[in-house]
Amino acid sequence: MYDVLVIGAGVVGTAAARELSRYNLKLCVLEKNYDVNMGTSKANSAIIHAGFDAKPGSLKAKLNVMGNLMMDKLSEELDFEFHRNGSMVLCFEEENIPKLEDLRIQGEKNGVPDLRIISGDEARRKEPTLTDDVKAVLYAPTGGIVCPFGMNLAFAENAYVNGAEFKFNFNVKSIRKEDNAFIVSDGREEIKGKFVVNAAGVYSDVLNNMVSSSKITVKPRKGEYLLFDKTAGEKVRSTIFQLPTKLGKGILVTPTVHGNLLVGPNALDIDDKEDVTTTKEGMSEVIEKAALSVKNLPMNMVITSFSGLRATGNSGDFIIGEAEDAPGFINAAGIESPGLSASPAVGIMIKDIIVNKLNADKKDNFIEKRRGIIKFSELSNEEKQALIEKQPEYGNIICRCEMVTEGEILDAIRRPLGAKTLDGVKIRTRAGMGRCQAGFCTPKTVAIIAKEMNISPLEVTKFGEGSKVLTGLNKENI
Ligand SMILES: Cc1cc2nc3c(=O)[nH]c(=O)nc-3n(C[C@H](O)[C@H](O)[C@H](O)COP(=O)(O)OP(=O)(O)OC[C@H]3O[C@@H](n4cnc5c(N)ncnc54)[C@H](O)[C@@H]3O)c2cc1C
Repeated sequence: MYDVLVIGAGVVGTAAARELSRYNLKLCVLEKNYDVNMGTSKANSAIIHAGFDAKPGSLKAKLNVMGNLMMDKLSEELDFEFHRNGSMVLCFEEENIPKLEDLRIQGEKNGVPDLRIISGDEARRKEPTLTDDVKAVLYAPTGGIVCPFGMNLAFAENAYVNGAEFKFNFNVKSIRKEDNAFIVSDGREEIKGKFVVNAAGVYSDVLNNMVSSSKITVKPRKGEYLLFDKTAGEKVRSTIFQLPTKLGKGILVTPTVHGNLLVGPNALDIDDKEDVTTTKEGMSEVIEKAALSVKNLPMNMVITSFSGLRATGNSGDFIIGEAEDAPGFINAAGIESPGLSASPAVGIMIKDIIVNKLNADKKDNFIEKRRGIIKFSELSNEEKQALIEKQPEYGNIICRCEMVTEGEILDAIRRPLGAKTLDGVKIRTRAGMGRCQAGFCTPKTVAIIAKEMNISPLEVTKFGEGSKVLTGLNKENI
């Protein structure tokens, strides 16, 4: 029997697993997909919010500010990309400047440091592409941007090397309690655990409602984005928000840690928890609203669009804690924005609940650090040469847009919790994320995965069951 079963390998489940793996506990993460980072944690704005948005006293506010503070050390320790680029909230009407001031006061109550209101002109000196309509700005120097894939993978890999097990392709269909243990089943196999952590994102209501009479609802709220090529990445340096409305934080324009420009998201309440399509109307809305903030967005440099689903709970705040009538069932439900920013702190909160109840001991051999995949393109010529001599596959460029080598792809497949699919390689190495959006590298990556996994290229999938990439081969060796 496991001490803890964590359901969901998004950023929240894996942050909790990493924190729990510091203790002598038998842990298993159950994930319905084939890999880590296949839910909302891969499709968001990738902002580490400063923490001025949420109501003082709420879990959102407290855990956002705490998560933001942890980010420099964490990104160093676990080797994922994070950059404190600062954020701006734009106000377009003189009469709304008091709302900007309210936001600053709210941020100060939440413990956000160094917030200040600056004039439109001062903001334009910092960000020359801001439109002339900007009247005043709330500037938050502690706002940041992160690689959401990198952070999620880093938590998972580090939890794994510290003993947490991961079971993929395990779609939890039922949970029942028997003799002080939860029996979790996917309809084929039953797994027992003393504690269950519900980190199932947009499905966290479904899981809670399997065990608790205190029902919750989590509705998907879709947000659509446009991603621009790296040639547009320097359009802005800070993250540019608009003064929030009751539907969300408005449309943002931000650089990404990889040097692209990201524009979005809109906010659309939907019913389908799997609907991550993008629409013409959504794209138009994003473009129209982004143009209020930044001049001359180069629309011919858009390389892709995508959408993500906010897990919008009925309480207005994160729902974190033990379900009242189901002792041992710990919810991390309704973790919408700022869930990415708050995730390290959510992980600690969940760990504290469980460790206190179990009176668990700390491990003395916990491995704190994790090394990510070497980024060949960022090395000096001497370092590149030395690496190629050691492993010649680093001399073979597979993804030309992002300059990803075969050596990096092999590392992605062979490392702890390695990639098994095209998307798995993509989120670990960025192969396929560039300007051509995998047009050139897909056949080569398929061949590498097939060889490493000792399967036919015909069996290689994009993201697991039902997503085979090839329908046949027109030559023997691809
Ligand atoms: C448009 C948008 C923009 C956002 N922008 C930001 C931002 O800039 N900054 C920020 O801080 N936050 C942001 N967020 C919020 C943030 O992305 C989420 O709060 C965070 O990713 C939630 O992580 P999670 O682990 O709870 O959920 P997920 O990443 O969705 O993970 C849940 C996991 O549970 C698995 N699962 C579900 N049901 C089952 C089951 N029955 N059995 C097994 N596994 C199951 C899923 O497959 C999934 O892998 C944004 C969200 C959206 C949608």
